[in-house]
Amino acid sequence: MNNLKMPALFIGHGSPMNAIENNEITREWQKLGELLPTPRAILVISAHWYITDTALTYQDNNQTIHDFYGFPEELATYSYPSISSKSIAAEIKDILGSGIDLLSDKWGLDHGAWSVLTHIYSKPTMPILQLSINIQKTPQWHFELGQKLAKLREQGIMLIASGNIVHNLSLLSWHKPNLGNDWAIEFDNKVIELIQARNFEPLINYQQLTASALMAVPTPEHYLPLLYILGASSISDKLTIFNQKYNYGSLSMTSIISNE
Ligand code: ZN
Repeated sequence: MNNLKMPALFIGHGSPMNAIENNEITREWQKLGELLPTPRAILVISAHWYITDTALTYQDNNQTIHDFYGFPEELATYSYPSISSKSIAAEIKDILGSGIDLLSDKWGLDHGAWSVLTHIYSKPTMPILQLSINIQKTPQWHFELGQKLAKLREQGIMLIASGNIVHNLSLLSWHKPNLGNDWAIEFDNKVIELIQARNFEPLINYQQLTASALMAVPTPEHYLPLLYILGASSISDKLTIFNQKYNYGSLSMTSIISNE
């Protein structure tokens, strides 16, 4: 346990296969594990718990949720053992007040969380909780919930949001495993430029960012986790971009750390 203000991270998670692969992306995640402080707890906001409520996990131990199909057995049976904490859930609910609709024992960690965390904290000792993304709310609302979550960083709770800035599964180009299409790179670069200028307003209204914004973000769930981290970023934080890489033409792996 420590009193350091914890960083807030947005991680581009990409394919679930990253959980069991050793590649240039996952090696960066492993490096994070060596560099990051040990938090009292971690709160994950993952694209893959996209439901009609704002729910927070409420349990003693997390189940590893396999929310995908058609991947190898090793991934389908993958286990990421981790604990959770009802008392920290109650503490988060207190801080967020009416922002949270319900405490849930029906979820655990989905692959947006564990495919990344298994590299950063391979044997976690701290409680890990997950917050859902409410499908009914506007991007502005998600940004403002991120602003409220900023307080948790001062309580020793690290925020990890997991999605992808560019995520279009219907336009995947299997012959381009490590390349991005021009429209994807253009959108990603625009997002990075605005983040570095701390000009977050246009990022909330992301559909107008580039001519092909709707190809880059055809559905909001993988983009919205980014808004939580921008909301939780303090004006005095340094914003560091890493893993600016592209997979299969239409996935951006770009990731951000907001830290003092
Ligand atoms: Zn995903």
